Amino acid sequence: MERTGIKYILLMEPQEQEITIEGWVRTKRDSKGVSFLEINDGSTIKNLQVIIEENFPDYASIVKSITTGSSLSVKGNLVASPAKGQKVELKASSIEIIGETPPDYVLQKKRHSFEFLREIAHLRPRTNTFGAVARVRSAMSFAVHKFFQERDFVYVHTPIITGSDCEGVGEMFQVTTLPIGNPPVVNGKVDYSKDFFGKQASLTVSGQLEGETYACALKNIYTFGPTFRAENSNTSRHLAEFWMIEPEMAFCDLHLNMDVAEEFLKYIFLYILGNCPDDMDFFNTRISKGVIDNLEDIARSSFVRISYTEAVEQLTKAHADFEFPVTWGEDLQSEHEKYLTEKIYGLPVIVIDYPKEIKAFYMKLNDDNKTVRAMDILVPRLGEIIGGSERESDYHKLEKRITEFGLDPADYWWYLELRRFGSVPHSGFGLGFERLIQFVTGMQNIRDVIPFPRSVKTLEF
Ligand code: ATP
Ligand code: MN
Repeated sequence: MERTGIKYILLMEPQEQEITIEGWVRTKRDSKGVSFLEINDGSTIKNLQVIIEENFPDYASIVKSITTGSSLSVKGNLVASPAKGQKVELKASSIEIIGETPPDYVLQKKRHSFEFLREIAHLRPRTNTFGAVARVRSAMSFAVHKFFQERDFVYVHTPIITGSDCEGVGEMFQVTTLPIGNPPVVNGKVDYSKDFFGKQASLTVSGQLEGETYACALKNIYTFGPTFRAENSNTSRHLAEFWMIEPEMAFCDLHLNMDVAEEFLKYIFLYILGNCPDDMDFFNTRISKGVIDNLEDIARSSFVRISYTEAVEQLTKAHADFEFPVTWGEDLQSEHEKYLTEKIYGLPVIVIDYPKEIKAFYMKLNDDNKTVRAMDILVPRLGEIIGGSERESDYHKLEKRITEFGLDPADYWWYLELRRFGSVPHSGFGLGFERLIQFVTGMQNIRDVIPFPRSVKTLEF
C-alpha cells in the first residue's frame, strides 16, 4: 500500500516515474474525452486532481463505476497542472476501485447543515469542515503536551471514576453496578455499601484535587483527559463529556498562574497558525472570517487583568441591555463576559477576586474575607475559556470553607493532609479543550469540534 500522503504529493515536482496514490473521490467531472477526479486522502484539506483520458483502457466503463465517495488506488504520472491553484495533477495509467459507493450516499455535492451532519457523525469526517477540525484537534493535542513538556511539567493521569465531588456540587454522572430498578435500601436510602466500590461513585468533573496531590510532590504537573458533567446546559459551549487540560503548580501564586495561562493560550494559537495553515485558511474564509487576524492580534497583545469588582463597575456603567442584571455577588453571565471582552476591552480579559460565595470551596480566601483568589479568562466570541485559582493552602481556613459549603471535612481527609505536611502556595486552572478548538477554528457549536458529541438527549453514536 502507498503511504505518501496527498499533502506531500501536492508539493512534488512533475516526474517521469509513476506513482500510486490512494484516497476517496470527492467529485467527478466528465468533460468531452476526459474525466477529472478530485481525490482526498485526509492528509490535507486539499484534493489531488486525477485525469482520466479517453484512451484509458475501458474508459467508459471505469468512469461510470467511479462515483463520489468511492475509494480508489490510482497509478500514474505526476504532470504539471494547467489548472489554477495546483502545481501538479495525476494522469492515470491504471485505477483500482477498492470500494464502490452506490447513489444513496448522502455526501454528494450538496452542502449539508452542521445540524444534519451531527446525525451522520460516522460520515461527517469526510467533509472539508470536519476533516479540518479533526486535524486541528490532533495538532492542538500535541501542542498542549509540547508546551508543558518543554517546561518540565509532569503529565499525570487522574482517575475517571471518582469517589469525591470536586466542586462540592451536583451535576455528576453516577457509576454503579446496583440494579437500577431494585437497589438495596436501608432506612429508605440506597445502600451503597453493597455497590461495586462500597460507596457512591461518579465520573469525574475535574482532575484538580487529585492533580494537587502530585503538584505537592512534583511541583509542576498537568492533566489532559476526559471530564463529565451532567449539567442540563443546552448551549453551544457545553458538553456532557469533554476534555480538560488542568495544570497545577506548587510555589505558585495567582499572578504566576495567570502568566502561565496567558502564555499557554498564545503558544497554542501560534502553533496552530504555523502548523495547520491550510486548515486555518479554510476556517478563515469559510467558517469565521478574520479568525486568523484575530488570533495573531491576540498572540501579540497583553490580556487585560481586572478584579471582579471592577468588572461589575464597568458593566454597570455600560448601561447595556442585558437579559440578566449585573449585581455584585452574582456570577457573571455569558452575556456579561462577552460584553467585557468584546465591547469594553476588545481583548481577552482575566477577571480575578470573585465573591467567595460563587466560587468553589478550595479557592484561597483574600484578606477582605469576602473574595477569593479566582481567575477566569474570558475571550471574544465565547466568554469563559479558563477557570482557575490559587488554592487555599492553610489547613484551618480550608477546613472551615469545606464546612461552610455544607461538606464533610472527613470526606476530604487526604486533600486536607496536603495542607498539614509541607503545605505550599499552589495554583492551577482548567481549560476546556473543545472551547479552545472552538475559539481557534471559529466553529460556532461545541458539538462540532469533538468527534462524537455527548449532550443532553444525544447519544446516537
Ligand atoms: P461555565 O460557566 O461556562 O459552565 P464553569 O465555570 O462550569 O464554566 P469550570 O468548572 O471552571 O467551568 O471548568 C473549567 C473550564 O472547563 C471552563 O472554563 C470551560 O472551558 C470548560 N468547561 C466547563 N464546563 C464545560 C462543559 N460542560 N463542556 C465543555 N467545556 C466545559
Ligand atoms: Mn458549568
